[in-house]
Amino acid sequence: MIKYCPTCNRSSDEARFIGEFCEFCIIDKIKATLPKVIKIRRCKVCGSIRDSKGFTEYSDEAMSDAISQQFHMPNSKIRFKGLDESKKIAELHISYELSEGGVGFNYPISIKFTKEMCPSCYRRSAGYYEAILQLRGSDRNVAKFLDSFNPFLIRGNAFVSKTEEMGNGIDMYISDKKLVSGYFALHKILKPKVSYKLYGVKKGKKLYRHIYSLTV
Ligand SMILES: [Zn+2]
Ligand SMILES: [Zn+2]
Repeated sequence: MIKYCPTCNRSSDEARFIGEFCEFCIIDKIKATLPKVIKIRRCKVCGSIRDSKGFTEYSDEAMSDAISQQFHMPNSKIRFKGLDESKKIAELHISYELSEGGVGFNYPISIKFTKEMCPSCYRRSAGYYEAILQLRGSDRNVAKFLDSFNPFLIRGNAFVSKTEEMGNGIDMYISDKKLVSGYFALHKILKPKVSYKLYGVKKGKKLYRHIYSLTV
């Protein structure tokens, strides 16, 4: 028996029906409930996106996750397909499950990005450090050590917030003390002198900076 859509009068010969209505009218109904603009938190320095896991490096997956968080649509799957950066319009593909069947459609949406800083960029800009490495030795030996040490810091996602020339070497202010001690655990031949300096208390826990003195 041929059905006719009560909204647009299309017949079931022309369009797929989901329950009483044709697929097109179902999609229009869903679209009418969707937001036209959403706000996405984005770091203005590194471009990372705040998704369900925290600030995450920008990717299609991170955008899909962050956008899905804003939609509050339990029966749907939202996939981010691309962004027109100048117009700030994202193209989405939305799959929606109804009890009578599923529909899928493309949906463009305006995105407002916040202009905030992620915690890691904030710490970087605030000169955050947990360790000081007092590195001493000839220019050649210092350079040789840094050829191995600096890539290790980068791989571990740490940063050097300040470097001071000291005449017979340098002082490096480093964001992550665990990573520095990890480096020396891997290179046991280097035996830095380590001291600790209390610099604060966080949630009842004393915070210490590690100071490594190393002659190479
Ligand atoms: Zn219809
Ligand atoms: Zn950032």
